[in-house]
Amino acid sequence: MHYIINILSFFAAFAFMEFAAWFAHKYLMHGFLWFVHKDHHDESHKVVQRNDSFALFFAIPSWLCIMFGIIYGSSISVYFGAGIAAFGLTYFIVHEIFIHQRMKYFKNTDNWYLRAIRRAHKVHHKRLTKEDGECYGMLLVPFKYFKEEREKIASQQS
Ligand SMILES: [Zn+2]
Ligand SMILES: [Zn+2]
Repeated sequence: MHYIINILSFFAAFAFMEFAAWFAHKYLMHGFLWFVHKDHHDESHKVVQRNDSFALFFAIPSWLCIMFGIIYGSSISVYFGAGIAAFGLTYFIVHEIFIHQRMKYFKNTDNWYLRAIRRAHKVHHKRLTKEDGECYGMLLVPFKYFKEEREKIASQQS
């Protein structure tokens, strides 16, 4: 029974992080932390961005959950920390590699889900400024993008 709670804790952390990342992106990064996020929106495409420091910030709760989980013998806490870390890894692969091609892998795909989240994020990047943005989420984006990419792929196949 216990392993089910651990797995639920893992996925709860993963889902919570999508919300946390959306919230931080919309209200903090495009708010008073814009000076950290700004270089991710400008056109210079630096190899190392100041914006990358958010990854270190989000690693802290993961580390604390795992460390205190081990110290106090709470596997739920360890799995919650692992879920946060898994989201971080997913975010890195999806956002830095697949979408922004900071390493040249996974460039083309026929998967409607991946194409939709990539397009939504490109829409987010159309704005170079702090204000009036859209599509702040990463793995969950407005449903019209999913619908449109599914229709595009379906029409290519027919
Ligand atoms: Zn942004
Ligand atoms: Zn981006």
